[in-house]
Amino acid sequence: MSPEDLARLADLIVDVPDWPTPGVVFKDITPLLGSPDALRQVVDALTEPYLEADIDKVVGIEARGFLLAAPVAYHLDAGLVPVRKPDKLPRAVHTRSYDLEYGSNTLAVHADAFSPGDRVLIVDDVLATGGTAAATVTLIEQAGATVVGMAALMELSFLPWRAALADLPVTTLITI
Ligand code: AMP
Repeated sequence: MSPEDLARLADLIVDVPDWPTPGVVFKDITPLLGSPDALRQVVDALTEPYLEADIDKVVGIEARGFLLAAPVAYHLDAGLVPVRKPDKLPRAVHTRSYDLEYGSNTLAVHADAFSPGDRVLIVDDVLATGGTAAATVTLIEQAGATVVGMAALMELSFLPWRAALADLPVTTLITI
């Protein structure tokens, strides 16, 4: 994608200070999702590096990850697997808890979401501390599948997501 296209995409991500809690600058992607051109460009660019990667399943992380993971899965001819907050999935799950700055969070995936050896791509909107993505990697591996990589719309370069994901291949479109 050209630098001009990337700048146009970045302009469609709105900073919302102190939301949902004081001190956080929330990256609101709804203007980007609402633009037909931007949505197509983002989905195409997230998909492109993995076209030849033999991806079996694309994992979307609740909730904005779902919105990007579904069209990426469609383009890769792969299945879609939601990783959700606890108590949202109705059948047997694997769960994984991880620490936040204040408190902790738990993610869940259906225990039968993957076949052994499935090649998996993770998709989300923002990489910040990397805690959510690292817990998702653990969940997928616990289920017997292989994480091939992660594609995110945005990386926050002032937060330590890279260290949290060891040597996992990661592609992002916009660096903040
Ligand atoms: P982290 O686990 O710290 O890497 O946070 C990543 C998850 O939290 C992603 O699922 C994002 O949707 C969400 N997130 C973290 N920081 C932000 C932010 N500044 N704006 C919007 N979403 C965020």
